[in-house]
Amino acid sequence: MNDRDPVFVIGAGPSGLAAAYRLKQAGLPPIVLAKRDRTGGMIHTHREQGYLMEEGATILPSAYEPVVELAHEIGVGADLIPAGSVIGFARDKAIHNLRSNHLFLDAARTKLVSGRSKVAMARFGIDAARASKGLNYVPDLISGHFDAEATSFLRGLRYTKCVVLNTGVTRKPVGITASVINVPRQVDAGLMGFTCEHNKAPGRAPEGHGLMAVLTMTEWAEQLIGEDDDTIRDRMLGALEKVIPGVSDTVDYTRVTRWNEVVIYSRPGLYKQLGHFVAHEAANSRIQLAGVFAPRRTCAPRRWPENARPPGS
Ligand SMILES: Cc1cc2nc3c(=O)[nH]c(=O)nc-3n(C[C@H](O)[C@H](O)[C@H](O)COP(=O)(O)OP(=O)(O)OC[C@H]3O[C@@H](n4cnc5c(N)ncnc54)[C@H](O)[C@@H]3O)c2cc1C
Repeated sequence: MNDRDPVFVIGAGPSGLAAAYRLKQAGLPPIVLAKRDRTGGMIHTHREQGYLMEEGATILPSAYEPVVELAHEIGVGADLIPAGSVIGFARDKAIHNLRSNHLFLDAARTKLVSGRSKVAMARFGIDAARASKGLNYVPDLISGHFDAEATSFLRGLRYTKCVVLNTGVTRKPVGITASVINVPRQVDAGLMGFTCEHNKAPGRAPEGHGLMAVLTMTEWAEQLIGEDDDTIRDRMLGALEKVIPGVSDTVDYTRVTRWNEVVIYSRPGLYKQLGHFVAHEAANSRIQLAGVFAPRRTCAPRRWPENARPPGS
């Protein structure tokens, strides 16, 4: 192989497309292989009946600086729409708002969590920041490439699942100003939360209507994912009723999306193992893995790791 041989990129999601873009810049012709008949991976927008909905990712946090920079670099920065930054927490039959652009301050002040939990959250934040250093991939398996220990680690990874119910309503739910609402286990164990797309940005729903994307936790998704759309719709709307009583009566559109592999299912010690894998196995590999795990380099490396052999060599 020489430097001009193509580099194969597996997957046409944001990571694969970003990797292909960087490879092309480096003069290495990329060939992108995609499983689906469309690009975008877990980012997919669908327009129907006047609703402009997201089946997967819905918000690009401004903290994802490399992604925002990349959007500007490739000339689509002007298409980024500023979105509402209020996050709601459903609790005690009310939605409590926190501002995502002042999250630490608002989280420290909120009465939603005890002082003890706040200390635990701060510790978790520090641990997560430490553990995320050096992580920068979503693993895929290529038999025979990694040694037995690494292969067994990769094969042992589980992925979370999610079912999304885009829900168009003829009236915006009263009193909800947040764009993203978390639903804690105490309110409903199956729901992760929902977005109010109509609060996020204009033009997401017909005049006067509202649009919500309702997401399940992985355990409930595992039970629901094989069910038909009507069953999923009824059960998810039933759960949403606990947060927005009467919502079912206002629904005029629903669309079900099933995601089978979202992120690696976390367990104690996982991030340490991931860090070890990246440092010892992936760093010098001709197979470079990219993905969702590194907040500072979300989509793909800006350049190939310095100690890695250049792709194609
Ligand atoms: C419901 C939901 C909501 C989300 N909300 C947000 C959000 O609000 N903000 C945010 O930042 N992120 C969000 N995410 C996460 C975000 O979508 C992912 O971080 C992002 O899409 C990851 O990009 P990726 O390219 O690594 O993987 P993917 O987007 O999964 O793309 C991988 C691609 O590779 C293809 N592929 C897989 N295996 C093969 C194979 N063997 N051969 C060929 N092709 C293959 C897949 O078909 C897919 O097209 C959400 C995800 C989901 C599911």
